[in-house]
Amino acid sequence: MKTYAYAAPSGDQPLAPFSFERRAPRDNDVAIDILFCGVCHSDLHTARAEWGGSQFPCVPGHEIVGRVTAVGAKVGKFKVGQLVGVGCMVDSCQVCQSCQEGLENYCDEGFTGTYNGRDRQTGGNTYGGYSDKIVVREEFVLRLPEGLDPAAAAPLLCAGITTYSPLAHWKVKPGQKVGVVGLGGLGHMAVKIAKAMGADVTLFTTSPGKEADARRLGADRVVISKNAQQMKSVAGSLDFLLNTVAAPLDLDPYLNALKRDGVLTLVGAPAEPHQITGFGGMIFRRRTLAGSLIGGIKETQEMLDFCAEHGIVSDIEVIAIKDINTAYDRMQKGDVKYRFVIDMQSLKDEVAKAA
Ligand code: NAP
Ligand code: ZN
Repeated sequence: MKTYAYAAPSGDQPLAPFSFERRAPRDNDVAIDILFCGVCHSDLHTARAEWGGSQFPCVPGHEIVGRVTAVGAKVGKFKVGQLVGVGCMVDSCQVCQSCQEGLENYCDEGFTGTYNGRDRQTGGNTYGGYSDKIVVREEFVLRLPEGLDPAAAAPLLCAGITTYSPLAHWKVKPGQKVGVVGLGGLGHMAVKIAKAMGADVTLFTTSPGKEADARRLGADRVVISKNAQQMKSVAGSLDFLLNTVAAPLDLDPYLNALKRDGVLTLVGAPAEPHQITGFGGMIFRRRTLAGSLIGGIKETQEMLDFCAEHGIVSDIEVIAIKDINTAYDRMQKGDVKYRFVIDMQSLKDEVAKAA
């Protein structure tokens, strides 16, 4: 199936129009007309080859919402016309312990990324959601609950699950004190979800201008992380802390913000390492430093249902696909409120105009 997209030709060139072929749906595949795709900082890390391992051309995009246009003969869960989502994964081994437990994100063989992944059948590079259509095996397609705005729900497929999963795994309970570092795409979802779980939420930000937004989104307290005095004032106060920042940090003051037995979980994935000067803060308070990677498919559906129940979507700025490079520049500067979402009609219009 002829597919139109935007791709980065290399790590130092802007994204530009690109076309390629998607496979015709196999027996267990769902073909999806893409309506919206969120713009994750991981897209930028990959398209600009910041992490290493990027394959080019690179068609990013793993926060996909669209409508089913065709299903294979053996597909049981989805129907033509249905609104669905696709997140960061399109395949995994399906047999290892993690896959058996619904944790395909931790597949022993490595899951197949929606983009920059290795197709398990053809060995080719996978192309993501900055495109007009996608074909995905049924097991990796999510049902979009009724009542969620399709554009604002798109970021739930990565930013939503990446923050929901650690909050759920470390069993955040009502009344607990939860910190979130960084008010970007992931961070603003973390604030909303932690609040909906009943937590008392402290947001750490480098941007004083985001304080009012943070409170509107659900933060009970805002700490300007560059202010040493403010950082000190929350020492020893938190049960759980989630770092969503796309840049390296000095972790010590964050570890020190935890109570005894508190957990600092990293989801932000900067290209350079974090700094940690002493382990005293961990040893003397039995604190834990942990990490977390997106979430499994079962948990992603659970998160979508949780968000529908609590009326949670992302705060978005809808863009046309031709503006993706400007959006990346703004994201790099932390100037996003709080997730860019591409309206894929803009790509379809470009294609129609060129024809
Ligand atoms: P984003 O929208 O760009 O937000 C990142 C936030 O970090 C910024 O808004 C900013 O918040 C803060 N920040 C502080 N200093 C920064 C700096 N020097 N450069 C950039 N940001 C800085 O990014 P995102 O989409 O939320 O992604 C955040 C990170 O998580 C990325 O590294 C991404 O690759 C990673 N990620 C990980 C997973 C996973 O499974 N673990 C999944 C998705 C994404 P303030 O202005 O409030 O300080
Ligand atoms: Zn992402």
